[in-house]
Amino acid sequence: DKIYGVKAWGNGYFDIDLQGDVVVNNPLNETSNPVSLMKIIEGLKDRELHMPVLLRIENILDQSISELNETFNAAINKIGYGNEYRGVYPIKVNQQAQIVEEIAHFGARYNHGFEVGSKAEMIAALSTIEGTDSLIICNGYKDQEFIELGLEAVKLGHKCFFVIETLTELPIIVERSKVLNIRPHIGVRVKMTSQVGGHWSATSGDRSVFGLSARQLIQAVDYLKEHDMLDCLELLHCHLGSQIPNIRDIRGGVVEACQYYSDLCQEGAALSYIDLGGGLAVDYTGGQSSTGQSRNYSLAEYCEDIVDTIKHTLDAKGLAHPTIVTESGRATVAYTSVLLFNILDVVHFESEQIPESQEDEHQLLKSMREILTYLKPQRVQECFNDALFYRDEARELFKRGQIDLRVRSVVETFYYGILHQIKDTLNKMDRIPDELEGLADSLADIYYGNFSLFQSLPDSWAIDQLFPIMPIHRLNEEPTRRGMLADITCDCDGKIERFVVDQHVEKTLPLHEMLPEQEYYLGVFLVGAYQETLGDLHNLFGDTNVVSVRLNQDSSFDFVKEVHGDTIEDVLSYVEYHPREMKVKFRNKVEAAVKEGRISAKERQHMIKTFNASMQGYTYYEKEEHQGQDD
Ligand code: PLP
Repeated sequence: DKIYGVKAWGNGYFDIDLQGDVVVNNPLNETSNPVSLMKIIEGLKDRELHMPVLLRIENILDQSISELNETFNAAINKIGYGNEYRGVYPIKVNQQAQIVEEIAHFGARYNHGFEVGSKAEMIAALSTIEGTDSLIICNGYKDQEFIELGLEAVKLGHKCFFVIETLTELPIIVERSKVLNIRPHIGVRVKMTSQVGGHWSATSGDRSVFGLSARQLIQAVDYLKEHDMLDCLELLHCHLGSQIPNIRDIRGGVVEACQYYSDLCQEGAALSYIDLGGGLAVDYTGGQSSTGQSRNYSLAEYCEDIVDTIKHTLDAKGLAHPTIVTESGRATVAYTSVLLFNILDVVHFESEQIPESQEDEHQLLKSMREILTYLKPQRVQECFNDALFYRDEARELFKRGQIDLRVRSVVETFYYGILHQIKDTLNKMDRIPDELEGLADSLADIYYGNFSLFQSLPDSWAIDQLFPIMPIHRLNEEPTRRGMLADITCDCDGKIERFVVDQHVEKTLPLHEMLPEQEYYLGVFLVGAYQETLGDLHNLFGDTNVVSVRLNQDSSFDFVKEVHGDTIEDVLSYVEYHPREMKVKFRNKVEAAVKEGRISAKERQHMIKTFNASMQGYTYYEKEEHQGQDD
C-alpha cells in the first residue's frame, strides 16, 4: 500500500487483500467481506466482456450520496442551524443514464435533486427524478423552450429554479410565466470575486463568463420589481469552481455569497435558498494538501465550515437561515468507476551484452568502448556527454550513408549500456548532477495498455489530471520494474507519464515483470467524474464495455447492468460512414478479384466473413483464443 497509496486516496472503498488483489469494501455493510477486483474480472471473462472495461460499483455511488447528505445533516444539528440541506447532482459531470437513474432512485430518500445546464439535461432530469420533493436547478443559457419545460415542471409540482445567468433570460421568463399563469422560482447567479486555487479557478473572479455583475444584479432586481415578481427571486447561486483544493478559499467564497444574500434581501428579494454550486474536491493523490489534485479538508470540515459561516454571517445581520444547496458532482461520482485494462506488451530499454572488441571496428565503437574505462562518480556527467555525442555522431554518419545499419545498432547497444552503468553509478552518489536527474526515467519501460487515453481518460491528456493507477493483482510481489504507460492509439500524446507513487508525483510507475501466458491487469481509479462523455473517438476507438456491480450483504456480488462497448460498425456510423454500403463495396471488390483470378471463391468467402465479423467486433485489441488470452 505504501507504493500505491490505496488507503490515502481510496476513501475507505478500496484496499489490498492477503492474496495481493485490490478489493472493494461494501461501504453500506462493514461486516461483509470485501470483493476482489480479480473475482469481478473472472466474471467478466465468463460473460465474454473483454478488456478494457469501465467498472461501476453502485454501492459506492449510493454511499457518496448518503455521506454527503448525512454529513451536512450532522453539521446542521451540531451547529444548531435553522434550516436544511438539499443536494443536487449536476448532470454534466456524468450524464450516463445508469448513473443518473441510480442517483434519482437512491437519492430520493434525501430529496437529492438535479442541476441541469441544457434542454437535454432538463429532459433527462424531468423524466428520471422520482417524486416532486427534490429540487431541479436550471443553470446555463435558457431559450424559450427550456423555460417552458421548467415552467411545466413547476406545474407538475417540482421545485424548479431558473438561475439567471444573463439578463436576456429575464424578459422571457417573465413573459412565459405570465402567459402560462405560473409563478416561477427564480435564482440569480452572482459573479464571485473570490479567487480560488486549482485547475478550474477561471470560473470565479471578475473575468468569469458566468453570472451577473453587481450592476446587472440591481438591474435584475429592478426588472422583477417592475413586473411585481420580486417575491419570485428565492435563490442566490454562486459557483467558485470545481476541485477547490483549499478550504480557506471555500470559506472566503461563502462569506462573499452571504454578503450578496443579505443585500439582495435588503433590496426586497424573498431569498430562502443559498446555492453554493460545486467545488467539493476529490483527493486524487491522497496527499491531503492544498494543491490542485488534492484537498486539505475532510467532508465533515467542508460541511461544517459552510453551515457555520452561513449561520454566523447571517445571524449578525438578523436574517433567517436559508436552505443550503450544493451541486457536488465530482465528489459524488468520481469513486464509483474504475477503468480496467490489460497490458499488451512491454518495451524495455535494457543494456545488452557489449560486443567483444575487434581490430577493425569503427572508430565510433572504439570511442564508445573507451568511455567505459573512465566511468566513475567524478566523471559521470562527462561520460554522459560523450555517449550522447557519439550516438548523435552515429546518426549523422548513418544519414550520410557513411556507416551502415549494423554499426549504428552496435553504437546504440553501447549507448544504452553506458546509460545503465551511469544510472548504477548515480545510485551510489549523494548528489546527482542536474542534467542527470531524469536519467532513470528515460530508461524506464513502456507498458502498452489496452485502452485509449482520449476515449477513457481525456482529462489526463487535456489538463494533466492525475488519477490513481496501479496493478490490481500481484500486490504481494515486489514490483521490480518502472514504466510509463502508452495506450493503443497511434498518437504520441497517448501516454501517461505522471503517477502518484508513495505520495509523490513521479514520471514512472512501479510495475511487475510480465509473466508468460498470464495477463497483467491495471486499474485507473476515481474516473467516474467528467471522463465518460468528454472522451472522443480518436483513432476510432469507441466506448468501452461498461459493467455495474452491486455488492451484497453476504460478501457476494451481482452483475446488475452491462452495456456493450461500441462495435466498429457503430463508430464508423458516428462519423457518417454507412456500414451496409461498405459491406457491399467490399463484396464487389473481392468478387472482382475472383473474376480476375487473383483469389478463389473460397478465399472470397473467408474474406467477406472476416470483414463482416470485424464490423461487429469490439474496437479494442482482442486476443485470439490460441494466444492464451484470458480476458
Ligand atoms: N455547478 C456548476 C454551475 C458547475 O459549473 C459545476 C462544474 O464545474 C458543478 C456544479 C460541479 O462541480 P464539482 O464537480 O466540482 O462538484
